[in-house]
Amino acid sequence: MIFDIEKETMPREDLKKLQLSRLQDLCSRIYYNVPFYKKKFDELGVKPADIRSLDDLKRLPFTTKQDLRDNYPYGLFAVPLDNIERIHASSGTTGKAVVDGYTRRDVATWAELVARGLTMAGATASDIVHVAYGYGLFTGGLGAHYGAERIGATVVPMSGGATRRQVQLLRDFGATVLCCTPSYANYLYEAAVDQGIDIAKLPLRVGVFGAEPWTDEMRQDMERKMGISAHNIYGLSEVMGPGVAMDCEEKNGMHIHEDHFIAEIIDPETCEVLPEGSTGELVLTTITKQGMPLLRYRTRDITSLDHTLCHCGRTTARMTRITGRSDDMLIIRGVNLFPSQVESILMEKEGLASTYQLVVDREGPLDTLEVQVELIEGMFSDEVKAMQEQEVRVRKKIKEFLGVTAKVTFVAPHSIKRSEGKAVRIIDKRKM
Ligand code: ADP
Ligand code: ZN
Repeated sequence: MIFDIEKETMPREDLKKLQLSRLQDLCSRIYYNVPFYKKKFDELGVKPADIRSLDDLKRLPFTTKQDLRDNYPYGLFAVPLDNIERIHASSGTTGKAVVDGYTRRDVATWAELVARGLTMAGATASDIVHVAYGYGLFTGGLGAHYGAERIGATVVPMSGGATRRQVQLLRDFGATVLCCTPSYANYLYEAAVDQGIDIAKLPLRVGVFGAEPWTDEMRQDMERKMGISAHNIYGLSEVMGPGVAMDCEEKNGMHIHEDHFIAEIIDPETCEVLPEGSTGELVLTTITKQGMPLLRYRTRDITSLDHTLCHCGRTTARMTRITGRSDDMLIIRGVNLFPSQVESILMEKEGLASTYQLVVDREGPLDTLEVQVELIEGMFSDEVKAMQEQEVRVRKKIKEFLGVTAKVTFVAPHSIKRSEGKAVRIIDKRKM
């Protein structure tokens, strides 16, 4: 099913026309209402009226997370505070939180876009949606909540935490859709096993997982053990919150709601726009947002775009699974590495658990990497030799596929700290 047939399957030519007129409108709104943007336009000698084609977007300035911090809290709002209905803030994973303000229409658009996403995942008005994303300033909880209400589903506003109780309510209330981070879904699964509850036997059938990087291997593993269809949802508080893009039933990249966002991929070093299909940093322009519109916002998330027609019939571009944010990229002895790449190897090549941590340290002038992997229950072999052999095998695969020398250590089941929100994959002792 498609939530908004007209917008989601619009011929690309029409979509581009719509994007252009919305971009032109955005440029005037921010030029005349946000001093920060007026200054940037003036410095570049560009006027809103100079934007005559989508290609002219390239002439416009970028906005960075630092710009948001410099204008904390309300400096980038494009409407008077009286018209702001809601404030949210990022979870601050990578530093000082950044703020976003929504008008009434922005909140309604957000609900609409999450509703499109939930529909892509197969959710309908008959579903019971258990929202275990955190409620509060973090956009996850309320974003999923409003979207679920918008499709007419029954919402269970659980928020994060109280994991034992979550599992019981998941069972008692008969939830059919679960919204949370993939790592928290795994944690819920483990907690259920501990309580003798088999999630695969519950009515739960759809997972809407996002807010952190995860791999396709992890998706398959979760689908199998939980008996669900797991979908990837992407978003960031600066731009809106969850629901910027979402997997359809094809699970072949996340559809971006291009009638509301223009997506570009740039080289994070040179800021040059890269050709179709290239991997680089995702840049988003919010063309309909009123409260805090952003022009060419550098997300720092690494992905690529696919404009080919999807089998589901939607015409919007799809972004591939995010390998990680550029801040999470480790450079170990000159080799670039994302935790998700290690995850792929652990899960696909070795059938190991999805709970792992990368510990980075320095010995003299050299960076060292230790990959700590939790053993799956029952796998904790008494046979020291067999385990040592597997550690060596994993180390070799990491070297072979990622080009990095890492120490691999198996740790006991449940020994790595679980997260109720975003998992912590990197422990950087160099910074301690
Ligand atoms: P913070 O930057 O404090 O974590 P947010 O809570 O707004 O702030 O998180 C947004 C970020 O979360 C995105 O920029 C991206 O790095 C990550 N993210 C969100 N959804 C996904 C997803 N489906 N896959 C990978 N990363 C994601
Ligand atoms: Zn599709």
